[in-house]
Amino acid sequence: MTPFSFQRAGDAPEAIRLAAATIGAKYLGGGTNLVDLMREGVERPPALVDVTGLAAAIEAAPDGGLVIGAAATNTALAEDRAVRERFPLLARAILAGASGQIRNMATVGGNLLQRTRCTYFYDEAARCNKRAPGAGCDARDGFNRIHAILGASESCVATHPSDMCVALVALDALVHLDGPDGARRLPLAELHRLPGERPDLETELRPGELITAVEVPPLAFAARSAYRKVRDRASYAFALVSVAAALDLAEDGTVRDVRLALGGVGPKPWRAHAAEAALRGQGATVESFRRAAEAELRDARPLRDNGFKIELAARTIVAVLANLAGDRT
Ligand code: SF4
Repeated sequence: MTPFSFQRAGDAPEAIRLAAATIGAKYLGGGTNLVDLMREGVERPPALVDVTGLAAAIEAAPDGGLVIGAAATNTALAEDRAVRERFPLLARAILAGASGQIRNMATVGGNLLQRTRCTYFYDEAARCNKRAPGAGCDARDGFNRIHAILGASESCVATHPSDMCVALVALDALVHLDGPDGARRLPLAELHRLPGERPDLETELRPGELITAVEVPPLAFAARSAYRKVRDRASYAFALVSVAAALDLAEDGTVRDVRLALGGVGPKPWRAHAAEAALRGQGATVESFRRAAEAELRDARPLRDNGFKIELAARTIVAVLANLAGDRT
């Protein structure tokens, strides 16, 4: 491992100041991904600024939503009563995401910034445009069963690994940022970039910016929500496909509103806008759920090994929505 300095920040301004002192410095949350990347030599930050001592409270916002300190652990968020009662898809996504030990360490801010689990990205002997821009992509013609079917590019076909982010994107979460140029807020849906020709540029964060909190706006019908993750084994694994959904049905059984997002299929947590638009005003039937899924997956571009994800995603969307609709289907 390359030598690096380590400092612990007491608050956000101190963290930003410490990070600004060294070019290439990184903020360190629970380290459940960054430390792995450093061990593998994929990341070589000259300085780490530990931000686990920063704001970790999960608080009710004046508008009825939640503000979650970026240093809150995944365990604390999944166990929070307001999250479990009002945003069950978020609690379930976190519980599906990792073992208890990892959830105890991993922070909310770190979860947002975890990097792809593409095996070629971690293998320094492989060609990878994300790790070494311009090198090529060994996944494109290699073993690409776990890779993206939506939003990928010639340069990179990796998927975003987070479960929590899929639920948060469905909930229209906002990311609170602070940095050398001041504080700002960004919709989580705009935090992660599609790869295009620069897969090494993964987020819209400005140099030195720190995630300080995540805001979840109020959404009454999120109480009727779910998260389902399909993976290769019953024990913890990254998603082949996952679905976060919340459903609002009118008295006559039509879909008044819906939130839908997918994991395991794209380079960023994938908000299923086309499916949502296709569902609003329709009957809550298996047929309309299927049509909505097909609308979302119309642009899917499978690779050699992952064509099965298209049907898997469609069936998972239908199953989750039918389950939420209950006997109204
Ligand atoms: Fe690298 Fe992306 Fe290709 Fe994986 S898919 S090898 S992360 S460029």
